[in-house]
Amino acid sequence: MQIIDLRSDTVTKPTLEMREAMLNAPVGDDVIDIDPTVVELQEYVARLLGKEAAIFMPSGTMTNQIALRVHCVPGDEFLCEAGCHIYNYEQGAFAQLSGLVAKTIEGQNGLLDLDQMHGTVRPENEHTVRTKLLCLENTHNRGAGKIYSLSRIEALCEWAHAQGLKTHLDGARLFNASVATGVSLQSFSEPFESVSVCFSKGLGAPVGSCLAGSRDFVAKARRARKLFGGGMRQIGILAAGALYALQHQMDRLADDHANARQLAHAVSKCKSLRLSDKEPDTNIVIFHVDKEWGTASQFSESLKKAGVLSLPFGPQSVRLVTHLDVSSQQIAQACETIESVASSSLLI
Ligand SMILES: *Cc1c(COP(=O)(O)O)cnc(C)c1O
Repeated sequence: MQIIDLRSDTVTKPTLEMREAMLNAPVGDDVIDIDPTVVELQEYVARLLGKEAAIFMPSGTMTNQIALRVHCVPGDEFLCEAGCHIYNYEQGAFAQLSGLVAKTIEGQNGLLDLDQMHGTVRPENEHTVRTKLLCLENTHNRGAGKIYSLSRIEALCEWAHAQGLKTHLDGARLFNASVATGVSLQSFSEPFESVSVCFSKGLGAPVGSCLAGSRDFVAKARRARKLFGGGMRQIGILAAGALYALQHQMDRLADDHANARQLAHAVSKCKSLRLSDKEPDTNIVIFHVDKEWGTASQFSESLKKAGVLSLPFGPQSVRLVTHLDVSSQQIAQACETIESVASSSLLI
């Protein structure tokens, strides 16, 4: 049985062409001075996002946490959505490593609205932490790959700047948002002082993220990267994989979005399942499993026995993510499997 792995878009394997690009990349010691391929990647990403500079790091957790650290000082607070990656999936590193506090605001499908922001910035007062930064996530992972519209982002960032706050974008899947909407990466990034993007999600590179911003911001981020143990030597090998992904595997994200719509359509036909949102914006589908059927873990386990891997995402919710290593044919097969598992009862 051929396994169809829909646990995450991080499971993709580098293609032969990508491996060749990595094999042939010129390299140097990027801690002592520079690695030419990582410099090429950083300049390419800075241009793509419309920022002065960018810096390569091993993970999106590191790019996010270093952005927070550079924007804030110990005793500062940042605002974020309650389901965001920075707050939920990075071990509270902002507190552990940088002495920061988060204020979470519950959004709808992970998205905040300007109306919710009034009163969230603390007054200058000896008793309180200082509110310094607003963090947004586009697309939103727990929000089932939901896209922030450009107008909503602009309104939120304009509000933040008027309050004297800085703004950071966790754009781990910003490429998906751009391909799905036709809004350029530059326009989506423009309202933010800093933007983090991941190459190891839908783009299909084995490793890496970039953090982009002003030249001064990136210089501070480079110093913090060394502090966090992220100074890397012949990093061009990995940067070449990311460059290849950006140049050859971005437009095809539209296929992943079409595949996610197929999966959502199959889910919508099942009485024991309920989609978290009407139709997926991008490549993530989250659905709720009726308690009568069983738990999310039991549903996921039954899918696995039938050859489809998924991720339990809560006691009753399951996540599916499409990516470049699943074909539309495999998606059709996964749809059949989901429908057949949903209609079979554990109790029988
Ligand atoms: C994957 C992801 C990250 C970064 O995760 P790493 O595994 O550390 O690269 C950050 N934000 C979001 C929304 C993500 O999905």
